[in-house]
Amino acid sequence: MSAQILDGKKFSETLRKDIAGRVGALTRQGMQPGLAVILVGNDPASEIYVRNKENGCAEVGIHSESIRMPENTSQEALEAEIERLNADDRIHGILVQLPLPAHLDESAALAKILPEKDVDGFHLINAGRMMNGEKGVEACTPKGALYMIRQTGIDLNGKDAVIIGRSNIVGKPMAMLLLRENCTVTVCHSRTRNLAEHTRRADILVAAVGRAGLVTADMVKPGAVVIDVGINRVNGKVCGDVDFEAVKEVAGWITPVPGGVGKMTITMLLENTAEAAERKLALCTEARK
Ligand code: NDP
Repeated sequence: MSAQILDGKKFSETLRKDIAGRVGALTRQGMQPGLAVILVGNDPASEIYVRNKENGCAEVGIHSESIRMPENTSQEALEAEIERLNADDRIHGILVQLPLPAHLDESAALAKILPEKDVDGFHLINAGRMMNGEKGVEACTPKGALYMIRQTGIDLNGKDAVIIGRSNIVGKPMAMLLLRENCTVTVCHSRTRNLAEHTRRADILVAAVGRAGLVTADMVKPGAVVIDVGINRVNGKVCGDVDFEAVKEVAGWITPVPGGVGKMTITMLLENTAEAAERKLALCTEARK
């Protein structure tokens, strides 16, 4: 039997209606959420991502600013721009589009963003909070992936979750979120021996590598939830890390690429921005008491 499709576009439509409602309520109280995206250089893929973020903001009523800086921008100039946005009351979320040009220090730049304006959830404070099981800003891609996993309705307690990929922006935070849901989590990477032995045990399998066709049907447990985070281009066509056509005949649920996790990532960014503005409004209200 063919797997049920976890449709990121459909989930996003519902979620964005809810976010638009929250943004409307904030705006009426004088706190329209604002998102600033800094793009350094001319990477064509990054340009597309930034445009998608601008469109997402427009759709739900979030004020958006895109700051385009030249390829040869210095670390000082980038950090000065971040400091300016930290101090700007109209901006509740700041995002530095990654990857940065090689001469720039990504970690140092991200550390400059105020943790409460870090809507990507990449700041060490937010990553640390997630590690400690405390409330903080959750990284958008794993947050969106978890939302999709929850839509299956399965009880996550005690389930075997296997994540392929251990990056700071996807694999590791995904592991933390699934651990929080009481899954038994295994994180695989390029040095993992016998990858298929791990993946075949997975009730929930998350692929976040960036290699087309890495996950084949024989690597998937029948009925598993398969979340494909990968974005690859093969012969001009976008695809994930999972051999979708073959794996959908084995899995219970599967996300498509495109139209899966990618769409949800931007939706979660919009939600994180709205939440940042809600926190700010709550603080202002508290201060006025
Ligand atoms: P990274 O390159 O930072 O990490 C890739 C991970 O895959 C590493 O941990 C690496 O292991 C592991 N890996 C590489 N080859 C293998 C292999 N043969 N077997 C098992 N593991 C392997 O990538 P990101 O985490 O940033 O992104 C992963 C993918 O997700 C990319 O395609 C990216 O474009 C996509 N992406 C999609 C998003 C979305 O919104 N849908 C958002 C962010 C990313 P090691 O650590 O040992 O090197």
